[in-house]
Amino acid sequence: MADCIFCKIANKEIPADLIYEDENVVAFNDLNPQAPVHFLVIPKKHYASLNDIDSEEAFGNIFSAVPKIAEKLGIKEYRTVINTGESAGQTVFHIHVHVMAGRNFNWPAG
Ligand code: AMP
Ligand code: ZN
Repeated sequence: MADCIFCKIANKEIPADLIYEDENVVAFNDLNPQAPVHFLVIPKKHYASLNDIDSEEAFGNIFSAVPKIAEKLGIKEYRTVINTGESAGQTVFHIHVHVMAGRNFNWPAG
């Protein structure tokens, strides 16, 4: 989608610190990390938010990548976050799963 920064990252039109790629998703380190490890997993196809995912296959592609990447990085414990909508903290409207590790996390999240 034009003017979507994460589409541009997925299409290699702008650089990112890529850590994983397969046919359907890419993962890259967050520009403003909130933990020693903080990366984002995105589908290559544009969906604005979790509310817009239209197939179980797309869900599967995104979520099955998370433990695969964690294992590759040697991470066994991590926090996953998906912000959906502005009031939930979403600022980039291309769905992304935050994966954070390397410190203790509080619950409930703020
Ligand atoms: P959210 O607030 O859930 O929409 O998360 C958006 C995340 O994207 C934030 O953690 C930002 O730091 C991160 N971010 C924004 N632009 C980039 C970029 N060009 N490369 C990597 N991370 C980014
Ligand atoms: Zn997009």
